[in-house]
Amino acid sequence: MNLNDDLQTIKGIGEKTAAAFAKLHIHTVNELLHTYPRSYLTYEDPIMIGEAQEGERVSVLAVINTYVDVRKVRGMTISNIGIRDSSGTMKVTWFNQPFLKNVLAKGDSYVFVGTVKLRNGSKCLDHPEYYKLEKYREMTTELMPVYPLTKGLTNNTFVKAVKATRGMISQIEDYIPEEIRQSEKLMELSEAYENVHFPQNETLLVSAIRRIAFDEFYSFLYDLNKLKNKNITIENTHKVVQGSAVNDFVNSLPYKLTKGQWEAIEDILADMGGDSVMNRLVQGDVGAGKTVVAEAALLAVVKAGYQGALMVPTEVLAKQHFTELTKMFDAFGIRVALLVGSTPAKEKRGIYERLKNGEIDVLVGTHALIEDKVEFADLALVITDEQHRFGVSQRERLRSKGTYPHVLVMSATPIPRTLAIILYADLDISVIAELPKGRKPIKNCAVGTNYRETAYKFLAAQVSEGSQCYVICPMVQESETMDLTNVVQYTERLRSVLPPNCKVEMLHGQMKAEEKNAIMERFLAGEIDVLVSTTVIEVGINNQNATVMMVENAERFGLAQLHQLRGRVGRGKKQSYCIFINGKPTKESMDRLKVLEDSNDGFYIANEDLKMRGPGDFFGIRQSGEAIFVMADIYNHADMLKLAQTILLKYGDTLEPPALVHKVQSQGTVL
Ligand code: ADP
Ligand code: MG
Repeated sequence: MNLNDDLQTIKGIGEKTAAAFAKLHIHTVNELLHTYPRSYLTYEDPIMIGEAQEGERVSVLAVINTYVDVRKVRGMTISNIGIRDSSGTMKVTWFNQPFLKNVLAKGDSYVFVGTVKLRNGSKCLDHPEYYKLEKYREMTTELMPVYPLTKGLTNNTFVKAVKATRGMISQIEDYIPEEIRQSEKLMELSEAYENVHFPQNETLLVSAIRRIAFDEFYSFLYDLNKLKNKNITIENTHKVVQGSAVNDFVNSLPYKLTKGQWEAIEDILADMGGDSVMNRLVQGDVGAGKTVVAEAALLAVVKAGYQGALMVPTEVLAKQHFTELTKMFDAFGIRVALLVGSTPAKEKRGIYERLKNGEIDVLVGTHALIEDKVEFADLALVITDEQHRFGVSQRERLRSKGTYPHVLVMSATPIPRTLAIILYADLDISVIAELPKGRKPIKNCAVGTNYRETAYKFLAAQVSEGSQCYVICPMVQESETMDLTNVVQYTERLRSVLPPNCKVEMLHGQMKAEEKNAIMERFLAGEIDVLVSTTVIEVGINNQNATVMMVENAERFGLAQLHQLRGRVGRGKKQSYCIFINGKPTKESMDRLKVLEDSNDGFYIANEDLKMRGPGDFFGIRQSGEAIFVMADIYNHADMLKLAQTILLKYGDTLEPPALVHKVQSQGTVL
């Protein structure tokens, strides 16, 4: 076997499993080994059913006291059993595992591991893992990796595949010479991979993760450095000379720009009118009003006779920007088009054509913008919004659509300034420091699950006053089906507890793009009162009439991500509220959420988060704020980021990182 061998050379991996892996961009043994667990589970000693609390992940040793009941509901096979121990009973449910009928039998005992739910007042486990006690005993000493998954791929299959290729790990060569590793206390690369997949203990795992974080940062900075050298003195061939258009546009706005917004626009206009090409980052907290800055830049470029492009990470957001731009630019005679994955093929062809002929001035869209077929007549400005969702290479591909166009990136991720300078080494930075005036600060509360019923009453009251609400359910990692059931069930439950005139709808990752767009449009139009969603709405969405953000199992999210979610409300004049439901009744978890209660300032939160989090965070769900890194976390591994920069400066391009590091960005069930 060889690192570059196809996955199907692994025993037990057939065509179907290989196809599932391919969806995660894993085709070879090497790619498999470079796909890191998203988190690790520890197996605790079993507790009694009587002690199990709602929302908690528990292990219970119990006997099956019913026959396995298998039925079909909405195309899904549902298998139910009842279990009991001396302290109580539970109902256990699995989806799409009809074979369980032949595996489980009444009278057998197992350790069941899963998250406790309450349904009609009784405790339930959905989709638990189950083990014989002897096997479970062995596992309590292990850290169990949880890999990114997709339909047709279970964690078990993933673990088995990695086990089958374990012998190949030693073939992974280290590009960092031993003397550097020793002086910087970096774990050897193959040892790091060994420990990431088969952690012997927490200490070794932490070192392994640090090493991989280092590699991700190093290879990121390495790419960045190449770009920087390439771009340093590019002559500005798209001079944008200021007319009155931007002023007219600003005067047409229903509000006055903040000082920061003005300064950002002035920086941009100065750049684009200057001698070299613009490369600028606009940073501003959620709700600071970055969109209008992008709009001013696009307008200036179009009025100078060129084209502009705006790329965003989700279709929903693209659609929203498109609607807004069309409205704003109409009076200025600017032609805007939308290009997303779900745009019908015929329409796409029309757009390609008009774009090439210069009949479209501004193109808004998702990754669809960087497809090969997209050609511009004369592209002078590319903007990426919510840039933390894009990698350097995607930014670069959009840029390559023009001949040295100006580049503007927008980010709401609060990053301490020292890190920003490293991460955005190739960019000049404008900061929008203050929020628009007249906003009422969001009122926050972090509460336990016992507050849920009160929260529902509050939602109902807000809806009766004409406001709208978001409810966020976290994704469940086990499988996509589970994710779906979670949001579906939650929505049903909410419909039954809220007054009948409350219109409740849901949004989740398995919906087709058109369905998602339709729901989002209805929500923006005020036809939906309560939107239940996974974190798809985390970035950018702007509905000024939304006043409540309720987050279930808030303890599972990183603080920075919660801050992003919170940024979906408080965008208009109305008083807004954020309710963080803490599903884990520990003091530590509550203290963490209290940081959000104390402050609405993204930079403060990022710093507090940094102070509170240690490597222990990896044993929960990792912070997913910075999607361009898989293992690395700019807060947690700030020291590795600095080290990577130091080594790069010292050794330059003599140490080339292997192509695979951070190139395999398996997102699994991330939406
Ligand atoms: P973000 O920085 O998070 O992208 P947006 O650009 O979506 O924020 O702006 C949030 C909301 O604030 C929008 O509804 C926008 O119209 C409004 N807004 C932007 N700038 C101002 C301002 N200077 N005064 C009042 N409202 C503003
Ligand atoms: Mg935005």
